Amino acid sequence: MSKTNKNLFNNTKLAFSNKSDVELKKAYFLFSILDYSFLTKLGNFFLMLVLKMHLPLKKVIKKTIFNHFCGGETLDECKKTFQILSKYNIFAMPEYSVEGESTIKGFENYKNDSIEIINYLGQLKLPFIAIKCSGLVSLETLEKVSNGEMTYSSLEYKNFYHRVNELCECAINNNVKILIDAEESWIQKAIDDTAFNLMKKYNIKTVNIFLTYQCYKIDTLKNIEENYKISLSNNYKFGVKLVRGAYMEKERSRAKEFNYSSPIHVSKKETDNEFDNSVEYCINKIDYISLWIGSHNEKSCIKLIELLNSKKLSKNDERVWFSQLYGMSDNISFTLANLGYNVIKLIPFGPIEKTIPYLIRRANENSSVKGQSNRQYTLIKNEINRRKDLN
Ligand SMILES: Cc1cc2nc3c(=O)[nH]c(=O)nc-3n(C[C@H](O)[C@H](O)[C@H](O)COP(=O)(O)OP(=O)(O)OC[C@H]3O[C@@H](n4cnc5c(N)ncnc54)[C@H](O)[C@@H]3O)c2cc1C
Repeated sequence: MSKTNKNLFNNTKLAFSNKSDVELKKAYFLFSILDYSFLTKLGNFFLMLVLKMHLPLKKVIKKTIFNHFCGGETLDECKKTFQILSKYNIFAMPEYSVEGESTIKGFENYKNDSIEIINYLGQLKLPFIAIKCSGLVSLETLEKVSNGEMTYSSLEYKNFYHRVNELCECAINNNVKILIDAEESWIQKAIDDTAFNLMKKYNIKTVNIFLTYQCYKIDTLKNIEENYKISLSNNYKFGVKLVRGAYMEKERSRAKEFNYSSPIHVSKKETDNEFDNSVEYCINKIDYISLWIGSHNEKSCIKLIELLNSKKLSKNDERVWFSQLYGMSDNISFTLANLGYNVIKLIPFGPIEKTIPYLIRRANENSSVKGQSNRQYTLIKNEINRRKDLN
């Protein structure tokens, strides 16, 4: 296997080529706060206060953390960001990052908002949308179906399936592919089974539906292997979106509370191995599996590049995609896109006060994932210094 340069993602000129000096300084300020968990906690407290007390501080939030991690308040407001990214060969994937109500009206709203996004993506020729099943049905239904207390023929489940199927039809008519997000383990079986039914229907010639696998879970690769075999014997193609997993603390504390063995790997190293081995497995089966990775891990991205090289697959093979969140790991996204790989930036949007829970999660993730905010901070600092040296 050819060796990829370990410094591949250090080119800050490229990574921040879309950022003005002012934007860069704002990002520097933001990541210097996120690097200190104490200041992040203070920031979270401030955001919660704004949320709970409806304080008129929208402008401050918009000019700082919101503009860094979100594309805008509406799809139209995000359009400028989509256009900038497309200049750098990066595809945008807007996501309405607002937690809806858990009522029939809330599920219908989520479906209708998603349809609006899909139609928009179709017009702009953007290839993917991600959907959360918990936006289309109650957590209670997903949990009961998952643990066998409710059947797939119950009215609640059927109504949900009808909604998700409507989204798939709309997406396929618009040439947009659907990524079904992974959520908490106790509702995941219903999500998985739904995704397999949709794959059976819509993945006959090409992959239109992807299911997400979380590699912090024990036996993820084993599940992928089994699901691959099932897809093969049922003659449909298999779409795998691979992530490490976002609900580690919640999973562990629930397992403790209800006294069952935690489904999560005991160490980061095991999660990393599960991720990298799963990537390798999917690339080995590329004639049948399409792979979409959502990761800010530089080593894992390099590993995938090396696998593509070794298999002599083209960089922009339509079956392989890299993805990062807007406002994070631009050094990975801009470098990969510049080299010709398929890159997606997930762009959250929504009214400021409603995206606050999302912003709090981003702030916490950046300060709790060891080294992640520090890496961003260092890269931004290097670029500011590089530009200073030019003057
Ligand atoms: C585009 C995109 C889409 C995503 N979609 C989803 C989704 O549908 N569902 C979902 O759950 N998540 C999703 N995520 C979030 C993802 O699962 C990770 O939480 C996040 O990306 C950080 O992982 P990493 O690979 O980027 O980076 P890294 O910094 O290398 O990994 C951090 C991750 O490693 C794992 N980890 C950390 N410490 C330990 C430990 N002690 N033991 C075991 N494991 C550990 C955790 O999963 C943690 O989030 C998405 C992320 C992106 C970028």
